[in-house]
Amino acid sequence: MFKLLKKIFFKHILRRKYYRTGHCIGCGECCRQIYVRHVKNVVQTEEEFEKLKLLHPFYTYLKVIGKDDIGLIFECQNLDIATNKCKIHKKRPGICRRYPVEEIFMMGGELGKNCGYKFTPIESFEEVFKSLQK
Ligand code: SF4
Ligand code: SF4
Repeated sequence: MFKLLKKIFFKHILRRKYYRTGHCIGCGECCRQIYVRHVKNVVQTEEEFEKLKLLHPFYTYLKVIGKDDIGLIFECQNLDIATNKCKIHKKRPGICRRYPVEEIFMMGGELGKNCGYKFTPIESFEEVFKSLQK
């Protein structure tokens, strides 16, 4: 019964597709391997990013550390590299407090390979398959 109520709450009230389980193990990966997505595109150039900095205070913390096939890679300057701890932990922005959220999948992202969190689909493959057959 509890499982069913939990499922209804997450699926229909919170409109989630995944349960988030686990906890942060403080690896710091999500603070040093950041892509910035604006509207539908991942930021590709520093010129583009300079304009975005005005839109969100969080962006002012970021510095470019590289680029790959996806786009520019940023590291947050608030990360203490020696300890993997956030230097502004108590005042960290909401985006960091809520991380990770399942929307990262919709934006084409994924969890870091060492992340202590996991996302599990609320509906099993069989349930989705059955509902498609109806
Ligand atoms: S503000 Fe802190 S928690 Fe947020 S990305 Fe930077 S180091 Fe990580
Ligand atoms: S990647 Fe996951 S485990 Fe590592 S610091 Fe970020 S939230 Fe925590």
